[in-house]
Amino acid sequence: MSGNEARLQAIYQITNREPMELLSPEQLSDLWACDVFNLAKMEESLAKSAFKELKKTMHTGSPLDAVTADMVAAAMKAWAMSKGVKFFSHIFYPMTNATAEKHDAFIITNSDGGAISTFTGSLLIKGEPDGSSFPNGSLRTTNAARGYTAWDPTSPAYIMQTANGSTLMIPSVFMAWTGESLDKKIPLLRSNSAMNDAAQKVLGLMGETDISTLNSSCGAEQEYFLVDLNFANARPDLLLTGRTLFGAAPAKGQQFDDHYFGAIPERVQVFMQDFEDQLYRLGIPAKTHHNEVAPGQFEIAPYFEAANVAADHQQLMMTIMKTTAKRHGFMCLLHEKPFAGLNGSGKHVNWSVGNSTQGNLLDPGETPHDNLNFLLFCGAVIRGVHLYGPLLRAVIASAANDHRLGANEAPPAILSVYLGDQLEAVFDDIKQGKLTGSTSGGEMDLGLSQILKFSRDPGDRNRTSPFAFTGNRFEFRAVGSSQSVSGPLVAMNTMLADSLNWIAEQLQAELTSGTSQAEAVIKVLKTLMEAHGNVVFGGDGYSSEWHTMAVEERGLQNIPTTADALPAFKDDYIIKLFKDTGVLSEVELASRFEVYAEQYLLSIEVEAKLVVDMATTLIYPAAIGYLAEIATTTISLKEMGLDVDISIASAVTASSNGMMKAVSILSKALAKHDFDTVEAHMNFCAGTLCGLMLDVRTFADELEGLVADSLWPLPKYQEMLFIR
Ligand code: ADP
Ligand code: MG
Repeated sequence: MSGNEARLQAIYQITNREPMELLSPEQLSDLWACDVFNLAKMEESLAKSAFKELKKTMHTGSPLDAVTADMVAAAMKAWAMSKGVKFFSHIFYPMTNATAEKHDAFIITNSDGGAISTFTGSLLIKGEPDGSSFPNGSLRTTNAARGYTAWDPTSPAYIMQTANGSTLMIPSVFMAWTGESLDKKIPLLRSNSAMNDAAQKVLGLMGETDISTLNSSCGAEQEYFLVDLNFANARPDLLLTGRTLFGAAPAKGQQFDDHYFGAIPERVQVFMQDFEDQLYRLGIPAKTHHNEVAPGQFEIAPYFEAANVAADHQQLMMTIMKTTAKRHGFMCLLHEKPFAGLNGSGKHVNWSVGNSTQGNLLDPGETPHDNLNFLLFCGAVIRGVHLYGPLLRAVIASAANDHRLGANEAPPAILSVYLGDQLEAVFDDIKQGKLTGSTSGGEMDLGLSQILKFSRDPGDRNRTSPFAFTGNRFEFRAVGSSQSVSGPLVAMNTMLADSLNWIAEQLQAELTSGTSQAEAVIKVLKTLMEAHGNVVFGGDGYSSEWHTMAVEERGLQNIPTTADALPAFKDDYIIKLFKDTGVLSEVELASRFEVYAEQYLLSIEVEAKLVVDMATTLIYPAAIGYLAEIATTTISLKEMGLDVDISIASAVTASSNGMMKAVSILSKALAKHDFDTVEAHMNFCAGTLCGLMLDVRTFADELEGLVADSLWPLPKYQEMLFIR
């Protein structure tokens, strides 16, 4: 193939494709959770006593006995086999953002050469994948390979249907033979339990007597891009790294916001329905979908669920998005910044904590100033973000998210808290040692009799805050679109646990010395706000004034890259936080640093190699080919006595030479391997390699604007974003 043939073929394929048919809409009641072994199905198929035991385990974390486990396994197998399933798999979440599976058949052969199906409690409870072949951050050496997966009864088993058959999936934790966590689920479960322990203490001191187990909740809004597969297949960068390493800005991008506010394209609607039907089958409560700001960008948000289940569902959702998109001829890009100059994709993690007896502790009610429990929990979050901002930054750090954070359309890389006018006023009062009342949003009255009046929210929204209070929850907006929500949830639960423990101690001291409850709360919160109130910010988080003010006046940290962020995992006070709360031991935390750092180095290295490769083998030949064409043509024209403008040839020559020089510098830099520490290597990637890649890109993008369209090999931005 030569010239722009790959592009033309892609466009031909796309414009001539048969549209996928809209699936015949099934009743939601038939679809909903039909592939999930949920509570209702357990109740149907288990003896009453076994069901009661299992439910207790699910709600309070109490251990399950072997007999009940056997009964659950038998019921699960019977249900799955009745739906034609022959295989089961423990599904688990290694320290990368991946989802892993180890499949086994129900079948075993007996001595007569016959086959029977079996699935016992012990098979349900424990699996044994290789503990060293997944990233383990030096927790396991290659010769010490044993790892276990263990069933997590708090997240329901389900059947995964694929073109190659269906499998019973059993959500599991993953640990080394030595007992250390090798996954993202164990710390999440531990962080929930640490948060619960601390919250029980505070609520107990507040005079609550009936306090059920507290859990955290998560509702994650997922942004993504869809690009036609024909284009994606012609872009090595999209295939290998999930983002475009080259590409000149199109004349029209997202300036008009016409995509955001327009109707969802028909082809995408068909994809969304197919995708959401599969989510419904798996009991994933997909609720909202809409276009996002950039052309080709969309969002889906499921309704919130218990954090552990939401995290499993999020992983499952990302898998299903990608496979379904493929079936519809799309590549689903979950990368945080697939296209330079356009909005990136995030995953806003909405988070709250509560239980069945006290309800949502982050719900202020109509009059927050007399909701003391709320004020304590909200104050605890403020303290947490202030003290552990660098940790929150570290858990969302990745090479991909670095392109987004701090860029103009995304939350800054400075962690601050937005409270909204009403709460900011209440906490300002608290700083003065008083609680005078709270303003209300009042009624929205347009003075038009035909428009019904409605009550207005007490606070506006702030899109520029990385950590915003949104009515009855906090929204961590800086999380990246491809990331697991577990890391952020672990950090939030753990910092909250720490703050609640601190509050419990202070309250206890005040109450013991005879201070009344309300006064004790104000006193403790006053101290808290004096120390941590600096993190509250209601203004424009994108502005340069804030960047200066945050660092110089407020003492907050601006942590621009992953290389700057990850070392937080090695800070003594972070090690202490995780140790004291029992969420991660020191070695477990150290292994996370290693795994995340390695991921970062690998991503940058792959990108840099590909930049060299694409510039050399695709872009340079296109430029030289164009020069050759100009040369032949102008010689012929000269012979005819015509004198044409060849200034473009000089421009192409200059950009090509510039690009190849930049390629050579980048290649040399890539060969450097003698780093004393991982930190030094990461700094080299962030400080040198990323800049050198950008140098190559700048010349290449210039060439895209010079070289004849008929010779340009890579699908252009306007094609990928606007043709579907
Ligand atoms: P918006 O775009 O207005 O931020 P969306 O409806 O797109 O809101 O998404 C909000 C997300 O927050 C949804 O997943 C929703 O279920 C979730 N959510 C709502 N209330 C809570 C809560 N109390 N705790 C956690 N998540 C919540
Ligand atoms: Mg939203």
